[in-house]
Amino acid sequence: MNHPVKNDLNFKLKNFFGYDSFRPGQLEIIQHLLNGEDVLAVMPTGAGKSLCFQLPALIQSFKTIIISPLVALMNDQTAALRDLGVEVELIHSGRDYEENAQSWRNFATGDVKILYMSPERLMQSRMLMALESLDIGMFVVDEAHCISKWGAGFRPDYEALSRLRGLFPNTILAAFTATADRATRVDINQKLSGGNARQILKGFGRDNLSLAVYPKKELKKNLIEYLNQKAHQSGIVYCLSRNETDEIAEYLNKEGFSAIAYHAGKTTEYRNSAQDRFMTEDGLIMVATIAFGMGIDKSDIRFVIHASLPGSIEAYYQEIGRAGRDGKPADTVLFFGLSDLIKRQRMIFEGDGADQFKVLEYKRLEALTGYCETVKCRKVALLSYFDEESEPCGNCDNCMTPPIVEDQTSQAVMLLSAIKQTGEFFGSSHIIDIVRGGETAKIKEKGHNSLESFGEGARYSKSFFQGLIRQLISSGILTVNLERFGAVQLMQKAYEVVEGREQFFARAHVERSPPKTLNRDTGRNIGEGPETILFQSLKALRLEIAREKGVPAYVIFSDRTLEDMSIKKPKTKSDFLLVTGVGNKKLIEYYESFSELIKQVKVNTPES
Ligand code: ADP
Ligand code: MG
Ligand code: ZN
Repeated sequence: MNHPVKNDLNFKLKNFFGYDSFRPGQLEIIQHLLNGEDVLAVMPTGAGKSLCFQLPALIQSFKTIIISPLVALMNDQTAALRDLGVEVELIHSGRDYEENAQSWRNFATGDVKILYMSPERLMQSRMLMALESLDIGMFVVDEAHCISKWGAGFRPDYEALSRLRGLFPNTILAAFTATADRATRVDINQKLSGGNARQILKGFGRDNLSLAVYPKKELKKNLIEYLNQKAHQSGIVYCLSRNETDEIAEYLNKEGFSAIAYHAGKTTEYRNSAQDRFMTEDGLIMVATIAFGMGIDKSDIRFVIHASLPGSIEAYYQEIGRAGRDGKPADTVLFFGLSDLIKRQRMIFEGDGADQFKVLEYKRLEALTGYCETVKCRKVALLSYFDEESEPCGNCDNCMTPPIVEDQTSQAVMLLSAIKQTGEFFGSSHIIDIVRGGETAKIKEKGHNSLESFGEGARYSKSFFQGLIRQLISSGILTVNLERFGAVQLMQKAYEVVEGREQFFARAHVERSPPKTLNRDTGRNIGEGPETILFQSLKALRLEIAREKGVPAYVIFSDRTLEDMSIKKPKTKSDFLLVTGVGNKKLIEYYESFSELIKQVKVNTPES
C-alpha cells in the first residue's frame, strides 16, 4: 500500500526508535492523536504504549506534557528518550528545587517539547497559570487507571486531573492504561474527556502464552516437579506474602535451583541487585510478591507461576503478561486453593476503604475464582473479561484435557446439609471432616458424629470435597463469612439444591497429575552454541554501559535487540541499522563498542 502519511510515519519510526513496523494498535492511535482527537487507549503491559504518544509529541510543533504516577517510571522513560537523542525534561518531587527549576526554564523558554511531570506538580495553580501562556498541544495521562476509584491503584493526585479538560479546552488529552475494566474505562473517559475520547482496546490475546490452573495441594512438591522441566530458563513465582516469598525461595535454593526472593521488605540496594541479576543471568527464578514487575523489560521470561491466588483478573493478566515478551512459547500456571481465596477475602474485608469499593473488590475476586473453576477454554474466558472475542486456544489445560462435567447434586447436598445442621458456624475443613466421618477431637467435642450427615460421603476424598466447595462458592451457592472467622454459609441458591429444585453440575474429580510444561517447544536451547555465548557477552556489555550511565539496562537496548544482534552479527554501520531497535542515535552511540565485541566473540568461538 502506498500511503504517504503512513510511509512517513514508518520512516520516523525507524529513524527515532529503530523499529521496522508498528505493533497492533499503535498506528491507529498515533493517527487519531495527529488528527487532534482525545484518545483512551487500553493495551496490555509491554504492548508499546509509550511510543504511541512519544512519536506524535516528537512530530508536532506544539509542546506535550506527560503525566505519570511514579518517579521511577518517569526517570526510566526520560532516560530512554534521551538515549534516543530526544530532548526531554522532567519535574517531580524526587528531584531538588534547582533541578526542577532548570528543567522548567528549558521547557518554558527553550526548544524542549516534551516534559514529564507528576500530577501534583502539574495541578498547582501557579503551574497551571504558567502553562496558559505556552503552546501546550497535548496532555498525556499515562497509567490513567489511577484516576478512577473503580480501578486498582486509585490516586487522589490523579483525580485532580479531571479539571484539565475545562482548563485547556483546545488541548488534546491522551490516556493510556493496561488495566481497565468497563466501569473504569467509562470513568476515565468521563473524567478526562467528558466521555468523548475515542476508545481503543488492542492486543489482549497473547497466543504464545499457555494458561493453566491447578488445585493447590502439595505446592512445593508440584513446584519442583514443574521446575525440573524448565532447566536454565528464567521465570517468576508470585507469592502472596513476604514470608511465603522468603520460604519458597529458600526451599528452591535448597533443592538446587537458583532462586532469589524479592519483596518490599528488602532494602533498595538488595532489590536493585536482585533485579540486575534477573535481567542478566539465565535460569534465575524470581520468587516475588507483586512488588516485583513494574517496568521490567526482560523478553525471555519462560514461565510465570502463581503460588497463590492474585487479587483480580486484571492483576493476574498483568502478571502473566510478563512471560514470553519475545513471542516464543511461555507457560503460566496458577495454583488455586480454598485457603488462599479466604485469605484474599479477608484482605479485602480488613482493608480500609469505603464499603462500595470493597463490594467491587469482592466482585473482582469472584470473577477470578470463576475463571479458575471454568470448564471452558481459559483464553476465551480471560479475553471475554476484557471484551475481546476469541476462539478456543488449544493450548490451555481445559483445551488439552477437557474436563468432564457431571451431576454432583447428591454430594453437594451432603455438604449443604452438614453446614445447615451445624448452624453455619464452621469452616470448610471441619465440614469436610463431618461428611467424611472423621473421628477428630473437634467432632467428638461438639458431638457432630451424631449428625445425620456424618460419614455420608466417606467414600469421597478430601480433595474431592475441597474442589466441590470451591465450585459451590464460585457458583454463588456457598459463601465464606469472614465476620464469623471464615464459616461457610448457605446462600439463597443453596436451598434450591437442597430442596431438589436445582441440580448441581460440577467438574468431575480426577486426581490431576502435577502441572507439566504445556509448551513442548521451549525455545532456544540456552547454554549452548556460539549465538548464545555472543548473546551473553552482549548482555554483559550492555550492563557495563548501563552502570556507567546510571540507567537501567533496557534503556540501552532491549533483550530483543541484543538477540537480533546476536543472530545478525552486524559488521558494518548499515548492517547495524538493520537490527531491530537500532535507530540513528543508537547507531552513533553504540556501533563501535558492540561491533567490536561481535568481532571478538567471533574470533573466539568456532563457526557453527
Ligand atoms: P507499555 O507501556 O505498553 O507497557 P512500553 O511502551 O514500555 O510498553 O513498550 C514495551 C517495549 O516494546 C519497549 O521495549 C519498546 O521499546 C518496545 N516497542 C514498542 N513499540 C515497538 C515496535 N513497534 N516494534 C518493536 N518494539 C517496540
Ligand atoms: Mg507504559
Ligand atoms: Zn484453551
